[in-house]
Amino acid sequence: MSGHGWVIRNADGSKARCGGPALCSECAREQADTKGEPPHQGSAGKRPTDNVVRIRRKPRPLRATYQPAAPYVVEREDEDDGSIRYMVFDHRPETYRFVCSTNDDGGTDADAKRDAEMIARGLNLLVQYGLERL
Ligand SMILES: [Zn+2]
Repeated sequence: MSGHGWVIRNADGSKARCGGPALCSECAREQADTKGEPPHQGSAGKRPTDNVVRIRRKPRPLRATYQPAAPYVVEREDEDDGSIRYMVFDHRPETYRFVCSTNDDGGTDADAKRDAEMIARGLNLLVQYGLERL
């Protein structure tokens, strides 16, 4: 038991609820530290990370169409570490942006998808009620 468990796996398989290297500076540092390190040269007790299959999706192009009354959408992204990230986007071309994301912590957080959809739904309701601007 040492780090956050996303990059360098903890012995008990536990992971910190920090979101992993994409969101957490601690994990990002671990990832940077382990990069370029040849496999099977680590000291005893260190879990090998060479069995991690890296799959990175290409960035998606802007959608040509969006629903003006419901421009906030949830997009799923499968992360390198096997967890699933649910990202809330504003798809309007004039305000296109990433809003926030939830993560299922490798399957341990069953509410991650629902939470992201609730956030998107709430933001869409604000648009529909004309209350989006503070
Ligand atoms: Zn972390």
